[in-house]
Amino acid sequence: MPLQPCPICQKPVAPRPENTSQPFCSRRCRAVDLGRWLGEEYRVPDRQADEREDEMPSDGSDRGHDA
Ligand SMILES: [Zn+2]
Repeated sequence: MPLQPCPICQKPVAPRPENTSQPFCSRRCRAVDLGRWLGEEYRVPDRQADEREDEMPSDGSDRGHDA
């Protein structure tokens, strides 16, 4: 089971028993992550770019109407 890289610095994360800062590689990165949560906007790259409403009816039949 491959471990995910540290979400902060992308370095490989050590397994649990020796690394109590999982899923981060170190306590420092965990603090950085916490700071992001509290401070700036934190976006989780978990969204699927599948929910797009790009359907624009370029009909234009209702335009140029003589009102
Ligand atoms: Zn890290």
